[in-house]
Amino acid sequence: MKPLKSYNPATGDLVGEVPITAPDDIPGIVERSRAAQPAWEALGHDGRARLLMQAAESFLTRADELGRLITLEMGKPLREAIGEAKSLADVKHELEEIQEALAPETFEDGRDRSTVYHDPLGVCAAITPWNFPMAMPAWMVLPALAAGNTVILKPSEETPLCGQAYADVLNEKLPADVLIVVQGADDQGKRLVDSDVDLIAFTGSRETGKHILRAASRDLKRVILELGGKDPMIVLESADLEKAARFAAHNSFRNAGQVCVSTERIFVPEAIADRFEALLVEATASMTQGDGLDEGVKVGPMVNEHQRNHVLSQLEAAVSEGAEVLAGGSGHHDNFVTPTVLTGVTEEMSIATEETFGPVACVTRVESVEEAVQKANATHFGLGAVVFGEDGERTTQVARQLTAGMIGINKAVGGGAGTPWVGARQSGFGFHKSKDGHRQFTQTRVLSKAV
Ligand code: ADP
Repeated sequence: MKPLKSYNPATGDLVGEVPITAPDDIPGIVERSRAAQPAWEALGHDGRARLLMQAAESFLTRADELGRLITLEMGKPLREAIGEAKSLADVKHELEEIQEALAPETFEDGRDRSTVYHDPLGVCAAITPWNFPMAMPAWMVLPALAAGNTVILKPSEETPLCGQAYADVLNEKLPADVLIVVQGADDQGKRLVDSDVDLIAFTGSRETGKHILRAASRDLKRVILELGGKDPMIVLESADLEKAARFAAHNSFRNAGQVCVSTERIFVPEAIADRFEALLVEATASMTQGDGLDEGVKVGPMVNEHQRNHVLSQLEAAVSEGAEVLAGGSGHHDNFVTPTVLTGVTEEMSIATEETFGPVACVTRVESVEEAVQKANATHFGLGAVVFGEDGERTTQVARQLTAGMIGINKAVGGGAGTPWVGARQSGFGFHKSKDGHRQFTQTRVLSKAV
């Protein structure tokens, strides 16, 4: 088979290539993975955690090199890319959390003495996207392995080198076949889903998620899906507007908007809208765009032409349907979409309903907080949401009315240690992190005896 070639989205240059896995080889790969699983399980949590921690140290010592590869392959600014690589070294706490989550628990009620175990499922497939090309694999591979499963990772076809590099680092310490990489695109993903794996953990588009859920239903395979969002931000009249505008610019344009919890819709009461918009435009001006390897760049290119065209077509449609451009809106070139602020965005526009995944901040002015909440919730998605307001009680009240899985107050979504990463509605199925999240990588078994 032809190799899978990887191109730098900022320059179009070839970054490297990997051999593509033949779909017909996948059943054999799953058999190898299954054969390696019992010995991996037999190492016990401590044995597995020791190897995973040793391997993870390399993410710190090699962060510059791995970060550079992330920037070359998908375009994000080098500083963020190095941060992503470094974050993978930080596994100690998560491994402890996994150990705690999976420890057997005993219950006694006077009649029965029962112990609940969380055993490995067997072979897990991890199918990952390109926007955090090392962190997303890690979110699935680490808990799956720590729980005693073996894993087959299929990284995105946009970032095969990052996926390979991530697995190569782990494989310097792991026994053979405990983590195997399958390279390719939809065909390999489908074949993996159809193969004899026990769980499919997937992060990607809603459409692919639905496809996977349907395919998995044939033999009721376990599935964990994280499927993107259309995150709203509500700015209340009590908000610190400068802070809110800086956040909106950062969270709309970070990673060129290619983040599942990007701010995609901003609802602002009329009374403060002029000032908020002016501040947002000002904050947008500081989001320097360019090649992620260049010093000072905050916004890189879109990952590829397809993604760029998707964003530009939404943008053009919105403008032709009456949205007003406050910043950006032109100067797009190659894979670079200029960070753009729109106002006057209405529910009828596709940019208000379909995931954009690009550097566009969409403002909608509202007459009341109730209208803001109603519009924020008018979506099939439900990953994250953000509320800005300095009146603590009122702000929390508004936050509690939002239907998303994760809500940030005066900050980005994502809770502290121990909390799940969870989507509501069509943003997800199952979740990541937290005790409950870790348990999804296991089969719960109850052993009971009469007392
Ligand atoms: P994105 O464009 O955001 O990466 P996709 O859902 O297209 O989202 O892809 C995410 C991952 O899913 C990639 O690794 C891709 O190769 C894989 N994939 C795409 N289609 C399928 C499918 N039908 N079954 C399994 N995996 C798939």
